[in-house]
Amino acid sequence: MTYNIALVKGDGIGPEIVDSAVQVLEKVGQRFNHVFYFTEYLAGGCAIDATGVPLPEETVKGCLASDSVLLGAVGGLKWDNLPGNTRPEKALLGLRSALGLYTNLRPAKLYPALRAECPLRPDIVARGFDLMMVRELTGGIYFGERGRREGKFGLEAYDTEAYSVVEIERIARVAFEAARKRRGRVTSIDKANVLETSRLWRETVRRVAEDYPDVALSDMLVDNAAMQLVRNPSQFDVVVTSNMFGDILSDEASQITGSIGLLPSASLGATRRGLFEPIHGSAPDIAGQDRANPIATILSAAMMLRYAFDLPREADAMEAAVDAALNDGLRTADIVGDSGIKPLGTCEMTDEIIRRL
Ligand code: NAD
Repeated sequence: MTYNIALVKGDGIGPEIVDSAVQVLEKVGQRFNHVFYFTEYLAGGCAIDATGVPLPEETVKGCLASDSVLLGAVGGLKWDNLPGNTRPEKALLGLRSALGLYTNLRPAKLYPALRAECPLRPDIVARGFDLMMVRELTGGIYFGERGRREGKFGLEAYDTEAYSVVEIERIARVAFEAARKRRGRVTSIDKANVLETSRLWRETVRRVAEDYPDVALSDMLVDNAAMQLVRNPSQFDVVVTSNMFGDILSDEASQITGSIGLLPSASLGATRRGLFEPIHGSAPDIAGQDRANPIATILSAAMMLRYAFDLPREADAMEAAVDAALNDGLRTADIVGDSGIKPLGTCEMTDEIIRRL
């Protein structure tokens, strides 16, 4: 098969880590008989420098015409003082909305080889965890009506949360489908004891669950979920929640894995085309020094194979190669801790992962 992949390398370490993922994809292509064509597009600070805007029209068109998009990261000190609408990060929101991406998938798992990096208690770490956060990305309070007005106590501000049945149903289906490919459990997080949107959320998710009798559904209030994530994260398989709750809980989940340099993400919509990117930023402090951990981006490319191209064997092989490199004691500087291991650079780590494919 042939696949057209749009590369949006972005700024800072973006070009280095995307190049690593491309090399790994090329090796996967050789091994499994696929051809990946790559086309580069500008977004973020580099696009501002070259064209005056963070998300040029050509980038949007190119991404829409591709089978999927692999993104590094955008932003950096140089563009920090620009006004909101012209900042590099605007490119991310613009791309998500142009591609109609309403789902954000963020796996968070504890690598046995990296248990020492986990900030949780040893008995919790010993149980391990491997969860998938499914966050609704284009609805809820971040997109609701907002404003300022004169209230009972003078000036007040308000933001409104609204969710339609259609929006809840489609994100719930993503979660149930994901659970079928994992351990068959969904936890739906809401605040149904207080919020009307959460009550509609809960009713709708329960109704969708009837179409997935093979998946076990449970509900959990968001305050309890925040506690359970640090108390007993091994209880979770797939977690589905609204935009704001997902924003907060997915960061909490990423922190308990120990390193930001390991975590991939996928943003998906109604078509198979998605946007795949590491959860970290452009790390300007280490850019251009061959010090970035390429694993989050390599795992994002593996998610692309799994979710956009339906190539689970190929994705498994990439993930297994990363596991093998970590199990063999190979580390980049961000995950070396106080182990005394000599860290590898971005290029060496990439080569070692490719060697294990
Ligand atoms: P960051 O994630 O870039 O960096 C935080 C810390 O983690 C830094 O010390 C960095 O060196 C380290 N780090 C991040 N990724 C790493 C990797 N792969 N390997 C090793 N170390 C890694 O967050 P920040 O410093 O708050 O932001 C830097 C810039 O990135 C800002 O301009 C911010 O707006 C932007 N940003 C972009 C995205 C994105 O493109 N999706 C996300 C977050 C932040």
